[in-house]
Amino acid sequence: MRLNRRTFLTGVASAAALGAAGVQLLAAGRRLPWEALARRLSGRVVLPGDRGYGEFALPNNLRYSALRPAGIAMCKSARDVSASILWARENGVPLVARSGGHSYAGYSTTSGLMIDMRDMNSVSLDESTGVATVGGGARNGNVYEYFGNRSLAITHGRCPSVGVAGLALGGGIGFNMRAHGLTCDHMVASEIVLADGSIRTLSGDDDLLWACRGAGGGNFGINTSFAFQTFEVGSITVCDLTWDEQPERVFASLVETLDRAPRTFGSKVSAKAPTGSSGIQIELLGQFTGTPAGLRELLADAYAIAVPKGVVTMEHYWKAQEVLAEPGTPAYWQERSRFFNEAIDHRAVAVIFEWLRRFPKTAKSAEFKVFQTGGRVNDKKPSDTAFVHRQSRWLSSIDLYWERDTPSDTLQHNLAWLSEFYEAIIPIAKGGAYQNFIDPSLTDWKAAYHGSNLGKLEAIKKRVDPAGVFTFREAIPG
Ligand SMILES: Cc1cc2nc3c(=O)[nH]c(=O)nc-3n(C[C@H](O)[C@H](O)[C@H](O)COP(=O)(O)OP(=O)(O)OC[C@H]3O[C@@H](n4cnc5c(N)ncnc54)[C@H](O)[C@@H]3O)c2cc1C
Repeated sequence: MRLNRRTFLTGVASAAALGAAGVQLLAAGRRLPWEALARRLSGRVVLPGDRGYGEFALPNNLRYSALRPAGIAMCKSARDVSASILWARENGVPLVARSGGHSYAGYSTTSGLMIDMRDMNSVSLDESTGVATVGGGARNGNVYEYFGNRSLAITHGRCPSVGVAGLALGGGIGFNMRAHGLTCDHMVASEIVLADGSIRTLSGDDDLLWACRGAGGGNFGINTSFAFQTFEVGSITVCDLTWDEQPERVFASLVETLDRAPRTFGSKVSAKAPTGSSGIQIELLGQFTGTPAGLRELLADAYAIAVPKGVVTMEHYWKAQEVLAEPGTPAYWQERSRFFNEAIDHRAVAVIFEWLRRFPKTAKSAEFKVFQTGGRVNDKKPSDTAFVHRQSRWLSSIDLYWERDTPSDTLQHNLAWLSEFYEAIIPIAKGGAYQNFIDPSLTDWKAAYHGSNLGKLEAIKKRVDPAGVFTFREAIPG
């Protein structure tokens, strides 16, 4: 940390002055006692102008990159996290936790204190139980690396830079979920630092562990580690197939076929509308416990409509993941999700394609995608974990990407298209929205993310964080 006059304590604000009031205090240029924070941490404090600040401050969704933290606490232990929370409260500074920084709505950005968890990224395994302990700042990439030469896994996403904390706390979908459940379903314990600075270990039927299993990050405290029950993996067949011809028929065929596929088939089907091309392209990404011939047989109807291009290969599980991985490069985007509790029938496909054809094509690209859910995800009841969406067949998402220099009126026109498309999907899908694809445009977010679990979540929030220290626009109200 660079120390100069701006880093010295010149006044102490009320501990309760968080949120908007805290932002105003910081905006008014009040000097904060960063030196006192640095003395209490084993990690560094990083301030604007310090080495690494630009990289650490940047969120994955660049739409929110203008909001910069006044300071970043690079925590190395639960005690560092506790000291950071207490320092922020003593000084009336709003705080957020940052693990992978992939919040769709930029909710791990702040004008106050960012508690950066990236140094708490260890992964270890108890060989006798198969329980893995994962640091609260580990990313998918740390998990891939640790398990890469083992025949074990948890349900994980495709992007190596997504934080395990954000992923697991909001549910955690991935190609394993139909066979093995969501990431949060594997969570058997967690260490968490609460708003009063206490460090607690959650296990068994603790209702705060229940809440950590799918309500969403940033709500109750800062989780500094997780224990996950792993499962065994072997050889699998994976595919990345694209169809340029007859996209509507291919899409309809794929969603119909996959609806009948065994749980050991995990998949995502996308209909992509890139700017600069007149067509719509279909992509199937999938993972199947079986042979390439078995996969080909399963997809016979789609192959009969048109022969796709792409890869089908059988590999060891972790090698095969290379086909499915996505880089997650920072970009400007918005995504809006809805669970389909119904089959995606021909009527639904017609609506989807009508809206894709209406894409103005003046932003970078747009896509409608569905992740197949069901299977083991639905073996649990909505009340078994905080993740309430246990009756769905698909999770749909509409993505819109734009460039930094996309003119504002063009962007507004494209965002209006996104909203109208989304409004057309809601009555067909009949499910809620995914709290990990957190959506700043949602008005019914409490019901859409939490459904019948909302009351219990509010009661837990009131108990563990009565002052509302952990807050953001779509946080569980206490
Ligand atoms: C490219 C990309 C790919 C994705 N792929 C998948 C996927 O395959 N499956 C899936 O389910 N989701 C996926 N997501 C969504 C992802 O799960 C969520 O955006 C998730 O919240 C990101 O977690 P993070 O730690 O990276 O983000 P952050 O922005 O760091 O955190 C997200 C929220 O959790 C809070 N938080 C962060 N760390 C902690 C902590 N240790 N304790 C408590 N709260 C914390 C933050 O304050 C914030 O509110 C993807 C997102 C992107 C951008």
